[in-house]
Amino acid sequence: MPADLAAHIRDIPDFPSAGIVFKDITPLLADPSAFRDAIDQLAAWAGPRTPDVILGAEARGFIFGGALAYALGCGFVPARKPGKLPSDTVEATYALEYGNDTLQVHADSVTAGQRVIVLDDVLATGGTAKAKIELVEKLGGTVVGALFVIELTFLAGRAKLDGYDVHSLITYS
Ligand code: AMP
Repeated sequence: MPADLAAHIRDIPDFPSAGIVFKDITPLLADPSAFRDAIDQLAAWAGPRTPDVILGAEARGFIFGGALAYALGCGFVPARKPGKLPSDTVEATYALEYGNDTLQVHADSVTAGQRVIVLDDVLATGGTAKAKIELVEKLGGTVVGALFVIELTFLAGRAKLDGYDVHSLITYS
């Protein structure tokens, strides 16, 4: 029987700053059947879209993305904060609530025509996901899905991803 994934997500009020309710996925990761079930559900959506690679950003995107890539038998591309990747990179800068942030991937991590699913634990305002899509497209890849464990629908991140195939396992409105 599928696990109730939402029962394994913990709300932490006022983290990392006042007014934010942080969705803590560490209880889900620590529960063997819930973690496996989350990966199985991600794989059930991602598999038919036949990705060549999954692209996820540090740090939580690595946890789900690595396991998903293993389950699908495809590759994994890490997107990282500036200065972490050792070879030539391309980057995308995106707006946060206050200020900007930048993500980089290796310039040879996605090749022209490759099918890519961008993955994260949470879809909030959509800025991070949009930056990952920009990186894939800069390298000539095709984004065949934007996949999330959790979607905070009240932040309307999906609107920023208009035109892309977007899916989340759990929604909070
Ligand atoms: P976004 O606003 O969609 O660009 O989200 C920014 C990043 O912060 C994403 O990688 C999310 O995983 C994370 N994030 C945003 N809001 C939350 C939240 N309420 N709880 C946990 N993670 C969050």
